[in-house]
Amino acid sequence: MNNRAAVIGMGKSGKAATALLKSRGYDVTTYDEKDGAFPSPFPAFDFIVLSPGVPRAKVNATSPVIGEIELAWRLLPKGAGPILGITGTNGKSTTTALLGHMIPQAFVGGNLGRPFSEACEKVYPVHVVELSSFQLESIVDTPVLGSIILNLTPDHLDRYASQAEYGAAKARIFKNAPKNGWVVVNGDDPAVLELSKPATVPVHRFSLSQPFEFTLNNRALRGDHNRQNAMAAAKCAQLFGLANAQIQAALDTFPGLPHRLELVREVNGVEYINDSKATNVDSSLVALAALKGPIWLIAGGKGKGAPYEPLVTAARGKVAGVLTIGDDAPVVAKAFGGLFTVHPCETLPRAIAEAQKLAKPGDTVLLSPACASYDQFDNFEHRGDTFKRLVNAL
Ligand code: ADP
Repeated sequence: MNNRAAVIGMGKSGKAATALLKSRGYDVTTYDEKDGAFPSPFPAFDFIVLSPGVPRAKVNATSPVIGEIELAWRLLPKGAGPILGITGTNGKSTTTALLGHMIPQAFVGGNLGRPFSEACEKVYPVHVVELSSFQLESIVDTPVLGSIILNLTPDHLDRYASQAEYGAAKARIFKNAPKNGWVVVNGDDPAVLELSKPATVPVHRFSLSQPFEFTLNNRALRGDHNRQNAMAAAKCAQLFGLANAQIQAALDTFPGLPHRLELVREVNGVEYINDSKATNVDSSLVALAALKGPIWLIAGGKGKGAPYEPLVTAARGKVAGVLTIGDDAPVVAKAFGGLFTVHPCETLPRAIAEAQKLAKPGDTVLLSPACASYDQFDNFEHRGDTFKRLVNAL
């Protein structure tokens, strides 16, 4: 060992991995596609840390390749506690934040918030870590004591040859589970049940058709999707040994994550809700299912080519009118037109001003665009923050 490491991909986790390696005395070479093509083959290193955004196939190297999660686990200080890991197509961040909220001493991070490498700075009794399928691809020996698999729907098919391959990446979460470990799975999702079959530790199911032993009155957790997230987090917390009273208290006080059905403010009896994270049709469907009407829906942006018709069906009896913004406004208008009143607004400030005129006390104004934000904003956070700023100025 001469302590030579490489880090490929200088995003958030690549930077954190580099800082961690340097703090441990490694001689680190970094690579990013922005700085030019990768060497082929790569020179020899003790090991290479590959960022989740870079497919393994792009790296022609004979040195061992690991991900940032594996690196962090290997370098956790003595006495550090186990990992509770959360994966799935949707709901990872919410469930991770919620489980983290139940265990206040925990390190909370991974794909959400702080990269796992930052957990190496001190001794945490437990680590609640959001794990994307890309991150799971590059774990080797990382043991996840308690895993949660929320759901599995077609996603990232640009990176995976098939849905089965995508599922296989997610199933890696429990491959190194210690004997006393467990897996919590969504019993209502046949694809998740199939995935969990090879698990060698007990598999616990949660289901919307089963009673939930906790009370869910928190508005930050409204909707069946959040009920599933809450069931998953609570089950995992119980298996970890938390008392029911502590779990219930956390369910009651969870503040929610920004940009996901986030209540911004009530103005003259009208609720303004920021769901900017809804960058596709499926997410906006979840929002409509979770809310009561009448809703003034602000939708549109950079479309992803999926039809808006499912949204039109879900909007029946709930949506009072649609305010369109962004590049895909004409496509959204065409889908909703005829059945709903469509107000072409082009921009978010105009849509909010228009919605304020139209909404009556008891109504909801919902930004749930069903589109990416890149036509008018830097990212969904920028779009949501703009919405919040404008609504707070009403
Ligand atoms: P992720 O981190 O997996 O992207 P988030 O918690 O950020 O998940 O939620 C993203 C979006 O996914 C939410 O805005 C909501 O529309 C949808 N969602 C959240 N939880 C679930 C769930 N359990 N099932 C289906 N959709 C969900």
